[in-house]
Amino acid sequence: MIIQVTDLKKNYGSLQVLKGITTQVAEREVVCVIGPSGSGKSTFLRCLNQLEEMTAGRIVIDGHDLSDPRVDINKVREEVGMVFQRFNLFPHKTVLENVTLAPIKVKKMTPEDARKQGLALLKKVGLEDKADVYPDRLSGGQMQRVAIARALAMNPKVMLFDEPTSALDPELVGEVLTVMKNLAKEGMTMIVVTHEMGFAREVSDRVIFMDQGVIMEEGAPEALLSNPKNERLRAFLRKTS
Ligand code: ADP
Ligand code: MG
Repeated sequence: MIIQVTDLKKNYGSLQVLKGITTQVAEREVVCVIGPSGSGKSTFLRCLNQLEEMTAGRIVIDGHDLSDPRVDINKVREEVGMVFQRFNLFPHKTVLENVTLAPIKVKKMTPEDARKQGLALLKKVGLEDKADVYPDRLSGGQMQRVAIARALAMNPKVMLFDEPTSALDPELVGEVLTVMKNLAKEGMTMIVVTHEMGFAREVSDRVIFMDQGVIMEEGAPEALLSNPKNERLRAFLRKTS
């Protein structure tokens, strides 16, 4: 198990957003997280990569217990790549610079090595010809693929995706999902919050249905999506299909 989450709770003031999440993710596993808006999916991911501090519970990532005061949070963060709904590329840097910046600054990689790695990653996401252009020349789908390459440049052990295709025009969704699918095939451990039920069905090993801050149901995609046990999941699936 590369990720172990035990009774994770997160409050914002008096609002309890995560009410005790317990789950594990195995190495090379692809887990899709689905659920209505406001159910705590983003908060869950943000706790996993320490963008939010948990209120209670335990998260262990690759052997590092995040609540252990001796743990090097920056080190753990490097192991967990994250891709958001909005791409957040640096507008005044080229595509390649966007991908090489963190490895040079944080990992102290030499510019030459970072450049080689960056070009290889851009090739992997199908954008090697865009290395020297600025983000404003890219489509949303291309920007999101750069964001994926940028996250991969830190050589993470786990990739978290928070609705990576939700802000895209429908015709651009497929190219991003294809990149993610290839990543899954290569054995990357992934947690993907998504509304793309086709992707969940085809690519994931397991689907987690979150509702009101808890995991209401989880299981193999086919069973969970075709034969949901929970009434709230049934209602959710009716709305999304
Ligand atoms: P989801 O991603 O499933 O839509 P979120 O994790 O974004 O859900 O949000 C869960 C709940 O937490 C919502 O009620 C939201 O308003 C609340 N919330 C999220 N972030 C904050 C924050 N920084 N401060 C206060 N409330 C927040
Ligand atoms: Mg969200």
